[in-house]
Amino acid sequence: MKSQDVRKQFLDFFESKGHLIVPSAPIVLKNDPTLMFNNSGMAQFKEYFLGNATPKSKRIADTQKCLRVSGKHNDLEEVGIDTYHHTMFEMLGNWSFGDYFKKEAINWAWELLTEVYKIPKDILYVSVFEGNAEENVPFDQEAYDIWKTLIDEDRIILGNKKDNFWEMGDQGPCGPCSEIHVDIRSAEEKALVSGKSLVNNDHPHVVEIWNNVFMEFNRKADGSLEKLPAQHVDTGMGFERLCMVLQGVQSNYDTDVFTPLIREIELITGAKYTIKASNEEEEKINIAIRVIADHVRAVAFSIADGQLPSNTGAGYVIRRILRRAIRYGFTFLNTKEPFIYKLVETLSAQMGDSFPEIKSQKTLCSNVIREEENSFLRTLDQGLVLLENIITNSKDTVISGKKAFELFDTYGFPIDLTALILSEKGLSLDEAAFESELQKQKERSRAASKVKAGDWQDLIDDEEQEFIGYDYTEAKVKITRYRKV
Ligand code: ATP
Ligand code: MG
Ligand code: MG
Ligand code: MG
Repeated sequence: MKSQDVRKQFLDFFESKGHLIVPSAPIVLKNDPTLMFNNSGMAQFKEYFLGNATPKSKRIADTQKCLRVSGKHNDLEEVGIDTYHHTMFEMLGNWSFGDYFKKEAINWAWELLTEVYKIPKDILYVSVFEGNAEENVPFDQEAYDIWKTLIDEDRIILGNKKDNFWEMGDQGPCGPCSEIHVDIRSAEEKALVSGKSLVNNDHPHVVEIWNNVFMEFNRKADGSLEKLPAQHVDTGMGFERLCMVLQGVQSNYDTDVFTPLIREIELITGAKYTIKASNEEEEKINIAIRVIADHVRAVAFSIADGQLPSNTGAGYVIRRILRRAIRYGFTFLNTKEPFIYKLVETLSAQMGDSFPEIKSQKTLCSNVIREEENSFLRTLDQGLVLLENIITNSKDTVISGKKAFELFDTYGFPIDLTALILSEKGLSLDEAAFESELQKQKERSRAASKVKAGDWQDLIDDEEQEFIGYDYTEAKVKITRYRKV
């Protein structure tokens, strides 16, 4: 089933169940001081849950463009390394605002997956909240009993508070979730691991596809829970993951959401994407291709929604995502000229029917990306010359951390690239000194405000705390990542 049909069938199904279909909200939020990017389907509806606004319909469904690159939901480090977390992805969702509740939500989810999409029941698992006495939240017996009528009990997994309980913040609406997971392991993979299920155990082919949140409580300031006067349903299903299941492949990148982009990258760069990498070299190239195919979507959709790359706020996040893609190309695909901008054409041809903004803003997107590529590639070129000088002038095989930091801080030259080049020349980097310089600089620029981690208080103040531009594993050089301070 083509991805376009997957999306359409989801919306048609919920329309047939009385839902109003609404367009995606922009990926970039302009009027919410607490959140830079939409990171879930529900963000645009939060005022309805808080009772501050009335929805046009008590039943709504849509597909939402989401970006998870900062704050509470930051998947960036996984992107490209794994095959099912993206920066930008679509979240299919259905909502009940004080209308239907668990019985309908669960039965419809099951009907859609097993009767409309015809996913075999024996590859599905569901999870139910197990309860948590300390936090005063009960086991979700109601959901368990509903699932029991649909699926064998040994396929119902009990989940903990982290995975199966949603709350808006320390106070406010909250409730248990039921997630649906799919086991798409091959027979060989199954033979390797015995046991009941690998749900939430990070097996790359046992993947969460749909989260159903049942908002039934209000947490009061004293920590106690009361039943909400009206109960709500909020669901989110990863579109690209669903396509992976329905197209019978084991990676989101092997679905028609990504293959046109990957073919184009192969065509432009001459690199080859292999479905199963057979050695480290192939895997590095695969990762780079996945990173670029993923990131061009995030960047193009953000520009189309009005967020240009810049040096501050949301614009800086976008710039860093694009630079990450450029650097992967530069290092692993040997691309020394701008090329990512060319992918906008492919993206627009593929997504333009569902998201007309990507078609109408195509020229802007590709011009902006080309300019960014030009300027960052110049930085990389300059940095290479400076690094050569450092190497020539050094009498030691261990290169000064202070010099490397200067290159990184003043010239924007990625530190992992420095490390990689040094290691290729049989030299190494004084990591401790680099870290110490970095630490000093962080202390200088540390924002006074505390990072909040609620669903609506995500971003803004955490820009300097996690450097998302560079990471190291694929260069096989051990350097500490900079995560939250
Ligand atoms: P995971 O545990 O896989 O990180 P999650 O529990 O963080 O997912 P939810 O917040 O429950 O995800 O979002 C609802 C659905 O959105 C998930 O079930 C999944 O299918 C999809 N999803 C979440 N994060 C991503 C991502 N980074 N890329 C693609 N799909 C995603
Ligand atoms: Mg997650
Ligand atoms: Mg999860
Ligand atoms: Mg989840």
